[in-house]
Amino acid sequence: MNRRLVVLSGPSGVGKDTVIDAWCLRDPLVRRVVTYTTRVPRPGERDGVDYHFVSQESFDRSNSAGAFLEAKHVHGNWYASPLDDTLAMVEAGLLAVLKIDVQGAMVAMERMPWALTVMLMPPSDAELERRIRGRGTETDAVVAQRLQNAHDELAMAPWYQFQLVNDDVDTTVAALMALVEERWPTSS
Ligand code: ADP
Repeated sequence: MNRRLVVLSGPSGVGKDTVIDAWCLRDPLVRRVVTYTTRVPRPGERDGVDYHFVSQESFDRSNSAGAFLEAKHVHGNWYASPLDDTLAMVEAGLLAVLKIDVQGAMVAMERMPWALTVMLMPPSDAELERRIRGRGTETDAVVAQRLQNAHDELAMAPWYQFQLVNDDVDTTVAALMALVEERWPTSS
């Protein structure tokens, strides 16, 4: 059986969540790898769907046991992408999609070199800014910071096997499906 994992990165606002949601609707075997966090859920967030919300003790235990690819501390809370959940999905025959930042992606590439890796790119700086602002509440300073971060992340695009411009969501999903089919043909 093929082990199918897509490592997906891209600057905040480029459309990663939108694309993964649309992909899940198109293919019932696609599963998003859910991040673990010690932060408290915001209203409307669902445990196991948006994040796995866990206690510090549980997080530390999983971390010590090697269950995570990487753990990082942001604004007082811990976040981690699971290695064991990802492998369990893959071994179950699902197509796992790991949304992860560039540092995490480098670890994922080292640990799972058989993964298909994709950097999602914005059509232009202006369009990325429009999408970031379109989400609503960000101040000018936050938008400027996100755009600066975007440049740093996009500079890592050559490390990924594929770079896809997320112009139209359906086209991007179709392109991802074509890459997956090319790497792991269903007839094989
Ligand atoms: P990310 O997960 O990369 O931070 P989101 O999926 O939250 O990005 O998308 C950011 C914003 O951009 C959302 O308002 C979303 O509706 C919009 N968006 C995403 N993809 C596209 C696209 N291909 N064309 C136009 N708008 C998009």
